Amino acid sequence: MHEQVIEQLRTIPVPGPVEGSNIVAEGLVSDIVIDGGKVIFSITTPGDFSGDIAALREAAEAKVRGIDGVDNVLVALAATPAAGGGGDKAPAPKRPPTLKRGPDRPVGPDMRPPKQSVTGVKSILAVASGKGGVGKSTTSVNLALGLRSLGLKVGVLDADIYGPSIPRLFGITERPEIENDRIVPIEKFGIKVMSMGFLIDEDSPVIWRGPMIMSALMQLVNEVEWGDLDVLVLDMPPGTGDAQLTMAQQVPLAGAVIVSTPQDLALIDARRGLKMFKNVDVPVLGIIENMSTFICPHCGEASDIFGHGGARDEAGKLGVTFLGAIPLHMDIRKFSDSGVPVVVSDPEGPHAKIYRDIALKVAALMEEDEDDD
Ligand code: ADP
Repeated sequence: MHEQVIEQLRTIPVPGPVEGSNIVAEGLVSDIVIDGGKVIFSITTPGDFSGDIAALREAAEAKVRGIDGVDNVLVALAATPAAGGGGDKAPAPKRPPTLKRGPDRPVGPDMRPPKQSVTGVKSILAVASGKGGVGKSTTSVNLALGLRSLGLKVGVLDADIYGPSIPRLFGITERPEIENDRIVPIEKFGIKVMSMGFLIDEDSPVIWRGPMIMSALMQLVNEVEWGDLDVLVLDMPPGTGDAQLTMAQQVPLAGAVIVSTPQDLALIDARRGLKMFKNVDVPVLGIIENMSTFICPHCGEASDIFGHGGARDEAGKLGVTFLGAIPLHMDIRKFSDSGVPVVVSDPEGPHAKIYRDIALKVAALMEEDEDDD
C-alpha cells in the first residue's frame, strides 16, 4: 500500500524549481505510517511557502482516501522553521485574550499573537501531571463526568499520545466516523470523547516527531465536530517536556489543573508542571491530590501509605488552590479499568461526591477567570 500512497501523492502538483513538480518530488511528504486501513503522513512545507497549505492537505487526503482499503487518513502539517524561528515547532496559532489572575503574570503588553479559539467550545481545561502513573487520566475522566453532572456540556480530548488510555477508561472500542470531512467524536455517558488512541493502536506504537504530534493534536482540537461545549477537558501527556510545553503554548487553554500523588517526588514534578503553565501564561486553577489516604476495601480503615496532605501543604506554599484529595481505593481502579468510571457506576458513593465537589470548584474558578477577562 505504501507504493500506492506515494503514487497518489505524486499526482499533487506544487510550485518548485522543476516545472510540473509534485509534493513527493519536492520532498514535502514524510513519516508515512500505514496501519490496517489507516494512513498517517506528514506534509512539511518550507517556512516561506506561499501556496495554500490547507488545499494541499485536502487534495492529499482525498487522493489517499481514494485508494482501495483505506478508510481513515490523517495528514499532519508541519512547517520547517523560518530563519531565526523557534526550532521544530509548528507555526504558532492565534491566542485568546490573556487571563489576568495570578501573581506571577508578567506585566506589560503581551506581544504574542492571540491563539485561535475553537468554534463552539467555551473553555479548554488541561489536566496535567508532572509524571506518569499518578492517576491523571482517571482524574480527567471522573472530573469530566463531575462537570457533566453540574449540567455542563462536556468533551474529553485525550492528548496523551504516548499512552492514550481514555478509550479504555470510557469502555469505547469503536472508531469515530468522518462526516463532511470532520471527525465525529464518540459520545459516552453524555460526554463527547476523542482520543489519539482511536487513530493509533495501543499495541503498535507510532513514533511521532514533535511537529507531527502538534499538528495531529491541533487537528483534533480544531477539526473534530465538538458542537457546543462548555468545557473541553484535555488529558495532557504526563511530564513537562517539549511536547507538553508546546501543547500548553499552542492550545487555547482557559486553565489547567495538576494531579499529584502525596509523595514528595511527585510534588517536585508537580511544581515543574506549575512552572510550565505559568511560563506560558496559562492560569493553574489548582492541585488535586490523588491516591491520598488508602481505604481498606475489607475493614474500611484509612491508612496514609504515601503520607497525606503533601499536596495541600504544597498548594498553600505555592499560592495555588487545593482542589481536593481522592483516596486510593480499589473501587476507583476497578470501575476505571472496567470502562465505567466511578462517577457513573456509583454516583451516590463517596468517591463520586469527591469528584463532583472538585468539579464544582473547577467550574467556579473557570467562571471567575472568564469574569476577570
Ligand atoms: P496516569 O494517567 O497518571 O498515567 P491512570 O489514570 O492511568 O494514570 O492511573 C494509573 C492506575 O492507577 C490505573 O490502573 C488506575 O485505575 C489507578 N488509579 C488511579 N487513581 C486511583 C485511585 N484514586 N485509587 C485507586 N486506583 C487509582
